[in-house]
Amino acid sequence: MRKPIIVGNWKMNKTIKEAVEFIDAVDPCCHDGATYGVATSFLALNDSIKHAKNLIVAAENCHFEDNGAFTGEVSVPMLEEIGVKYCIIGHSERRTMFGDTDETVNKKAKRLIAAGITPIVCLGETEAQFDAGETEQVIRSQISGSLADMCPKCVADIVIAYEPIWAIGTGKSATKEIAQNCCHIVRDQVRVMYGDEAADKVRIQYGGSVKPENIAEYMAMEDIDGALIGGASLKADSFKEIIEKTR
Ligand code: 13P
Repeated sequence: MRKPIIVGNWKMNKTIKEAVEFIDAVDPCCHDGATYGVATSFLALNDSIKHAKNLIVAAENCHFEDNGAFTGEVSVPMLEEIGVKYCIIGHSERRTMFGDTDETVNKKAKRLIAAGITPIVCLGETEAQFDAGETEQVIRSQISGSLADMCPKCVADIVIAYEPIWAIGTGKSATKEIAQNCCHIVRDQVRVMYGDEAADKVRIQYGGSVKPENIAEYMAMEDIDGALIGGASLKADSFKEIIEKTR
């Protein structure tokens, strides 16, 4: 059985104070129905980790090198030092605005795994690719590149987030059938590359305009093991409702 994992991706939102207030309010509402968590700015990670007893706290990015002349970057050992256990990599905003590629995502995933930090590897097609019927090809190619040359047992333990770019922050969520079909393709590509054990164990999230009103329908789908949530994760009440609806 795969335990669902539902993570709020706060992106560039919330000061340290706001992050801690949210965590203090939401943490007691967590239950065993799923693993719940939030991804915070680098600055808010340390205090958030100290305040979270039930929520997991994730970073939103990392660099694959341990140190060096990379102004503004944060390395995996730096995350490790403060007890980070999960890290989002390859979010479409990082791919489109900050130059992340399947190749750098692959390097980041390997470095995180070596540190015992679980990568949440994001991928998904653009609206133009969706309209052109290229979704399956894009997903398979992103998985092939982002998860290249890894050990099957390592892949079994990661989290993959399928987020169609046309559904991110648009309110235009994918239907549950589209989301299921795409998460199934993700799992099948993991099966092709790493076999049944990795494919059956790896957790796959859907992301893109997930909210309290639609979370349950996604969670009911066979290949969807959770969600990566942007806008609807920013308000404590909305995230609490999501936690309640996935009991
Ligand atoms: P929204 O839930 O705001 O569409 O954002 C999704 C997302 O990008 C999560 O990583």
